[in-house]
Amino acid sequence: MSGLKPVHAPQTRFPVIDDCLHIGGMPVTRLAQRVGSTPFYAYDRAALSARVQELRAHLPAALALHFSMKANPMPALVQHMAGLVDGLDVASGGEMKVALDTGMDPARISFAGPGKSDRELAQAVAAGICVNVESEREIGVLAQLSQSMGLAASVVLRVNPDFELRSSGMKMGGGAKQFGIDAEDVPAMLALAERESLDVLGFHIYSGSQSLKAEAIIEAQARTFELSLRLAAGAPRTVRQLNIGGGFGIPYFPGERALALAPIGEHLAQLVEQARTELPQAQLAIELGRYLVGEAGVYVARVIDRKVSRGQVFLVTDGGLHHHLAASGNFGQVIRKNYPVAVGNRMAAQPDSPAYVVGPLCTPLDLLADKMDLGHAQVGDLIVVFQSGAYGLTASPAAFLSHPAAAEVLV
Ligand SMILES: *Cc1c(COP(=O)(O)O)cnc(C)c1O
Repeated sequence: MSGLKPVHAPQTRFPVIDDCLHIGGMPVTRLAQRVGSTPFYAYDRAALSARVQELRAHLPAALALHFSMKANPMPALVQHMAGLVDGLDVASGGEMKVALDTGMDPARISFAGPGKSDRELAQAVAAGICVNVESEREIGVLAQLSQSMGLAASVVLRVNPDFELRSSGMKMGGGAKQFGIDAEDVPAMLALAERESLDVLGFHIYSGSQSLKAEAIIEAQARTFELSLRLAAGAPRTVRQLNIGGGFGIPYFPGERALALAPIGEHLAQLVEQARTELPQAQLAIELGRYLVGEAGVYVARVIDRKVSRGQVFLVTDGGLHHHLAASGNFGQVIRKNYPVAVGNRMAAQPDSPAYVVGPLCTPLDLLADKMDLGHAQVGDLIVVFQSGAYGLTASPAAFLSHPAAAEVLV
């Protein structure tokens, strides 16, 4: 390692014109006027579309691309994404409603997550969406519902693999987990589903999230595919659907760099080829949340005070952890690091003395930037937090301290 301080990956999604960041083709200052209030989240349609296009250029055409809605369930954004991807993955009855409202074919919507209520399962069967079952109980409930509603439930088994995605931000498979059915129990669950006359279409295996290492993703996908072949060999019915997960990360923190797509795409092309002979009926899919939408969004807050405390500059904004928990470092991070942050209306200013950017909450946790080199900012300036299109507003404790809600716009 050199002694150089690690820096954020460059922000290239949004142009800077005349010292001002442009989002959705307009200066952030004018966008703030258009929204009418700060703080707000803005998601850029062109950036969303470009992202899917870049990704598709690397993926085999036969591979389905799903958007995992919990990353950003804003209805207008989901509507936009519905026109770009092959499927939507939901994790609650509320997300199911937004997904169905887009007009997406219900057969291309899947519902995963632990603790699905009987009511949510009934809604899913009535809608004709695919349920990724995570427990023995769900198999029983779905069998009963199929009978009582006179509709065949569309079912995939979510498998808790016997491995995890190495070097990922969040591990969601391997070991003891609340997610999915342990791989070793799958044969018994398939037999149970068969006795209950449930048609199991295939498997869903998700091993982790936020990985920036192509080799780790490739390894997880290879192991997922191998496990699927083993499970398929003992399955009473042909595998028609195989969701091999995702986990593609985006660079948030200093020193992190964008994921290399080319090797992942090449490996996926091999898997698709192999599936053609070994699982000829199966539609292969991957599911991505943050990778599709994270870089297309910013959070914008206004500086409402500038203080100096014992020589340190504090920019106090009207936004904070109640809208953007992840940027404050309190959403799954072990060590707090800064998101990329800038003064959106002074992009060309020389760095001032390092500043803290804090929110209005009465807690030291409400920190958006910890001693960052920002241009000299004054009251009224706009602080922009990049990489904010995923796990932003809906992953934050909006009611904490009873401040106004943040607006959200798709521009
Ligand atoms: C959350 C989740 C995702 C999306 O994860 P990202 O890191 O946003 O890509 C995909 N699949 C499942 C099952 C999930 O729970």
